[in-house]
Amino acid sequence: MDFDQSELCEHKPVWVGRIAVAACQECERIDWFSSEGPVDSAEAIAALFGSYDLVGPLEALGAPTRRVLAYVPPSSRKRKNLEALPKRVWLQAGPRLWMSHDGEVLLLATTQPMLMENLTRGA
Ligand SMILES: [Zn+2]
Repeated sequence: MDFDQSELCEHKPVWVGRIAVAACQECERIDWFSSEGPVDSAEAIAALFGSYDLVGPLEALGAPTRRVLAYVPPSSRKRKNLEALPKRVWLQAGPRLWMSHDGEVLLLATTQPMLMENLTRGA
């Protein structure tokens, strides 16, 4: 497996189940991998946070988009998945998709209307 590394920072992956998460505060981005190589961000996010409950869209200052989606983990075991990401920074998690969290609530921001619709489904 080959992880991109810049000269300034080390993108050390954290394994969460079958997904390796390389989240970098310096580069403000997240790379997702499996043992086979890079994984699509939507697939990785579904694997890690798919069981989270949508608590609703909210207006967020300082976020990449004005409206973001807030999710809470269904259990403390699932909450641990957030620990793979640094707190209180917006990281690019995929094409036109950003994530942030404070250890309790996961925030997603996207400029893809279709993705927004998929993410809010079932709310
Ligand atoms: Zn970096």
